[in-house]
Amino acid sequence: MSKIWDAVIIGGGAAGLFCAGVAGQLGKKVLVLDHAEILGEKIRISGGGRCNFTNIHSGPANFLSLNPHFAKSALARYPASEFIKLVSLYGIGYHEKHQGQLFCDDSAKQIIEMLLAECSKGQVSIRYPVSVQSITQGSSEWLIQTSQGGERTKAVVMATGGLPVPAIGASAFSLDIAQQFDLNVIEPKPALVPLSFTAETFGNLNDLAGLSVPVRIASGSKGLRYGACRFLEDLLLTHKGLSGPAVLQASSYWTEGEPIHIDWLGAVERPGGFNCDELFNNEENRLKSTETILASVLPQRLAKAFAEQKNLLGRKWAEVSKKDRQALKELLTNWSVKPAGTLGWKKAEVMLGGVDTKELDGQTMMSRKHPGLFFIGECVDVTGHLGGHNFQWAWASGFACANSL
Ligand SMILES: Cc1cc2nc3c(=O)[nH]c(=O)nc-3n(C[C@H](O)[C@H](O)[C@H](O)COP(=O)(O)OP(=O)(O)OC[C@H]3O[C@@H](n4cnc5c(N)ncnc54)[C@H](O)[C@@H]3O)c2cc1C
Repeated sequence: MSKIWDAVIIGGGAAGLFCAGVAGQLGKKVLVLDHAEILGEKIRISGGGRCNFTNIHSGPANFLSLNPHFAKSALARYPASEFIKLVSLYGIGYHEKHQGQLFCDDSAKQIIEMLLAECSKGQVSIRYPVSVQSITQGSSEWLIQTSQGGERTKAVVMATGGLPVPAIGASAFSLDIAQQFDLNVIEPKPALVPLSFTAETFGNLNDLAGLSVPVRIASGSKGLRYGACRFLEDLLLTHKGLSGPAVLQASSYWTEGEPIHIDWLGAVERPGGFNCDELFNNEENRLKSTETILASVLPQRLAKAFAEQKNLLGRKWAEVSKKDRQALKELLTNWSVKPAGTLGWKKAEVMLGGVDTKELDGQTMMSRKHPGLFFIGECVDVTGHLGGHNFQWAWASGFACANSL
């Protein structure tokens, strides 16, 4: 136990490896410890194997936190453009998919290899699998007991991520350590997660599994923990309920017992904008069946399912009462529905909540109560929208920490 590290980083995922590489190249003696058999598994499975590694528009508005100002400093000091420069330096091909989301052309493994190469440039030591048994604060250093012996260090960086996907080694270790040192933890919740529905609320939409529809979705409200959201994205109908980017985004703002609101026609594009009344009041539609009219703006199977739900299947529009038209309009433009729950940690992409940002310095990610103890990445109460923002937070928080070790 003679050597003293400048920093021991617990967790060799996105934030931990990136932080280690930057700190190592700044001349710090850094050790990374990870309990997994393989490093960077979340990066490997991310973005469908192509890693949506950042978003060119990433900014504070793309993050949920009890303190929405906390992430500003770190995001400003290490913006998406810096990570893009690094990716380009390594010759990794990438492309923009949708709304600024950048994906590798080939494989997420290239990002892992790049992070490991950066660690190697900084002469970072990496040990895995190793289990960390205890972390204690001495008078002038920290002591870390592991399954492979003890380590002394000037700083401890907790980077063990969030609770999603326990099958690949997710753990609550950073949160446990926060609590051990008397730091407040905001209750963790699965986010960017599909929502489930009871058969009663979902009705005949169960039969449409696999169908994807662009919608406008709203969830949350001003009084709730993370406020309200509105997204224009694709919604995917599944056997268990609703998924796809629209629902994943809405899930982060959803609170149990509250409804979400779906405007199925909110993404219909027409010159001058789309107005449901124009469709309903169009004289040319009088003799058409309800499902034919709906199929002019919705996928045919969905048009039929909605007409069926309102007992209007096969009914000529001229025969549909004012009251039924109003009910149909409500269903199409403001389907307010209460999810039964989420599909939980197994299916969530990210964790809401985590170490309370009040406990940390936003410039350095260091604990205010315990100098030398840092928290970075997903374990902090900063959660990104879908689309590369969560990795951007891992890079930005890792960079802020590395520069203050
Ligand atoms: C299926 C899926 C797809 C995703 N796709 C994207 C995407 O395309 N774009 C995006 O921005 N975000 C995506 N995310 C989210 C993103 O992966 C995370 O936000 C990001 O990896 C968090 O980085 P991190 O370093 O904090 O945690 P991680 O990358 O999860 O790293 C944590 C590390 O800590 C280790 N660890 C855990 N517990 C312990 C312990 N007790 N002792 C020692 N080591 C421990 C783990 O083995 C792991 O190596 C996705 C997530 C999932 C689940």
